[in-house]
Amino acid sequence: AKARGKNTFHFFSQDLNEAAKERLELESQLREAIREHQFMLYYQPKIDLNTNHIVGYEALIRWLRPDNKLVPPARFIPVAESTGLIVQIGEWVLWEGCRFLARQCSRGLNVDLSINLSARQFRDNSLAETVERILKRTGVEPKRIIFEITESMLMGDTDAAIHQLNQLKSLGVSLSIDDFGTGYSSLSYLKRFPVDELKIDRSFVQDIPEDTNDMDIVSAIIAMAQQMNLRVVAEGVETVEQVAFLKQHDCTLVQGYYFSMPLAEQELNQLEFTIN
Ligand code: C2E
Ligand code: CA
Ligand code: CA
Ligand code: CA
Repeated sequence: AKARGKNTFHFFSQDLNEAAKERLELESQLREAIREHQFMLYYQPKIDLNTNHIVGYEALIRWLRPDNKLVPPARFIPVAESTGLIVQIGEWVLWEGCRFLARQCSRGLNVDLSINLSARQFRDNSLAETVERILKRTGVEPKRIIFEITESMLMGDTDAAIHQLNQLKSLGVSLSIDDFGTGYSSLSYLKRFPVDELKIDRSFVQDIPEDTNDMDIVSAIIAMAQQMNLRVVAEGVETVEQVAFLKQHDCTLVQGYYFSMPLAEQELNQLEFTIN
């Protein structure tokens, strides 16, 4: 048994080395990706069920490697976050997203853009200044930008979080709580933050209409959002039954594969949806 324990330890530490090596490799590849402009933004339409119009998009980052592999954010955002590279990447997302939005608006389209902020970016004291500069330089109206943050970013130093939210709000942008329901925020907690929108997490939507628990949770979140005068958006909508349920419960803003995958800008411009 002892010998086996030793072996196990040996394997374990080798695995750790492997993991550390991979991480270092990924970090240096990420630095190269920043230098060589290997990132792309994809855009997923947000639909208003009352009109069936596209009312906006969510910007979702992709990494297009030189070998033409498209790397999803779940694979590199955590490393970008822990190395701090996310601040630079996030600033690129802001520029690219705002330029996209300016192009959409110049085509006469009345749309907004949701942009994900990482924890590290959200803690950055110069975030609001950066956002202000980019809005000015791209000519985007602040009211067209919605920043998505998660509940966990609001935990911990809540005074600092409230300060940051107020700084952003004073620019005229909107704020949304992403993946809502997966964190631990209580109603009273939520009330302290100057947010405009709740985004119901995909995990509560995906098993509608089989899971009655999830249906209760979703209708409770919708009712709560309405009570608090918050907009509510459902993400991860994949089926016609889910659309019907959400519409019936007065959640008219939706996003998901049922309507469209996230798309590159050229693909978007060929979509057959009615546009606002
Ligand atoms: P998220 O913000 O919750 O984004 C929604 C994710 O769900 C996206 O995955 C989207 O492609 C996927 N999705 C949309 N509709 C459906 C659906 O109907 N079914 C299913 N199964 N999935 C759907 P993606 O693009 O892989 O992004 C994953 C996460 O990476 C995002 O989760 C977000 O947390 C993060 N992320 C993406 N772009 C950025 C960015 O620019 N900055 C930061 N900080 N994080 C980002
Ligand atoms: Ca999001
Ligand atoms: Ca989400
Ligand atoms: Ca999510």
